[in-house]
Amino acid sequence: MQSLWNDQEAAQYAGDLGQRVYTSRLLGRDKTLVLHGGGNTSVKITEPNILGEDEQRLYVKGSGWDLEFIEAAGFSPVQLAYMLKLAKLSSLPDPQMVNELVTHMTRASAPTPSVETILHALLPYKYVDHTHADAVIAITNTANGEARIREIYGQDVVVIPYVMPGFDLARLVAQIFATDANEKTQGMVLLNHGIFSFGDNARESYERMIALVSRAEAYLASHQAWQLATPTAAPPESPLRNDIAALRQSVSAMLGAPAILATDQAAKYLAFAQRSDATVIARQGPATPDHVIRTKRIPMLGRDLEHYATQYRAYFDAHASMAKEPKTMLDPAPRVILDAEFGLCAVGRNAKDT
Ligand SMILES: [Zn+2]
Repeated sequence: MQSLWNDQEAAQYAGDLGQRVYTSRLLGRDKTLVLHGGGNTSVKITEPNILGEDEQRLYVKGSGWDLEFIEAAGFSPVQLAYMLKLAKLSSLPDPQMVNELVTHMTRASAPTPSVETILHALLPYKYVDHTHADAVIAITNTANGEARIREIYGQDVVVIPYVMPGFDLARLVAQIFATDANEKTQGMVLLNHGIFSFGDNARESYERMIALVSRAEAYLASHQAWQLATPTAAPPESPLRNDIAALRQSVSAMLGAPAILATDQAAKYLAFAQRSDATVIARQGPATPDHVIRTKRIPMLGRDLEHYATQYRAYFDAHASMAKEPKTMLDPAPRVILDAEFGLCAVGRNAKDT
C-alpha cells in the first residue's frame, strides 16, 4: 500500500482543518481502507469562542459524509473538555450520547458527529485516523486473530477486543489505553472492526495508517493469503437475457420497487459461484458494517428467492428481540446474487446502489 501524499496537493489545503480534509480524502480514495461513509477522522484545534476565550475543539467526521469527498463543512466541532467529562460516566445509552454530542457542537449547522466521537476525544493525539482496512480485518477475523495482530505489531499498537461502536467502546478504550499505551504507540487495532493511527500532524497520522496496514498486507502475503491465482471458467453457452429479465422481475416484486440488476460474468465470479463450497465460503457474513449497508448480510446463491426471503425473516426474528431498540425489518430481497451462469449479480433501487 502506497502513501498518496503529494506536497503540491497538500499545499492547497490551508490550516489544521484543511490538512485534516486533505488526508481524509486520501484515505477515502483507497477502497481497501474504507467504503462509502465508513471510517472516520478527527483533529483537535484550539480556537477562540465568541467571548474571545480559547476553547479546545474536536473536529470529527460528521455522519452522512464520505471521507473521499469530505469538505471542512463535513467535520463537526464539539467541545473537547465536555467530551472528556462524558467519557468518565459509568454508562450513557447511545441515543442520549448522540444528544450530548449534538448539543455540544459549536456550529449549529454542523452534521451529527460520528458515533465514535468520544473515542476520538479520548485519544491524546492531535490527529486521529480510523479505517476498516480489509487487510487488518482479514487477520483479526481469522482464528487466533489477536495473537496474529500482536505478532505483527508488537508494542506499536494497542489491541482492543470487539465491542459495538458507541459509549461502551469508548470506555473500554479509555481503560486499556491507560495501561497499554507507551511512547512507541502509533495506533490501535480494534479486533473484528478496524484500525486507528495517530500523529502530531496530518501527514504523520495518515502515513502511519499506510505503514501499519502495509504490515498486515505483508503478513498475509507471507502466509500465501494475498495474491490468489485467477481461476478460469467458461462463459454460458447461450444468451441469458430472458432468464436475467425474469430474475429482475421477481426480485423487484420482493423489493417492492423496480430493481436495477447488474450481472458480471468475468471468469473469477463464475468460478467462485461454481465452487462446490460456495455455500459455505460466501455465507460467512461481511467483514464490516461498511459492507452490509449495500450488500445485506449474505448473498443469495442460485435463484431461489423464496428460500432466501424465508431465511432472511428467520434471521431477523431471531435477533431483533436482542436489540436495544425496536427494529423494523427491511425488504427480504437479496442485494448480491451468485449464480453458476449469471456470475455475480448486484441488485439496487438505483444505479448507485447497484
Ligand atoms: Zn469504525
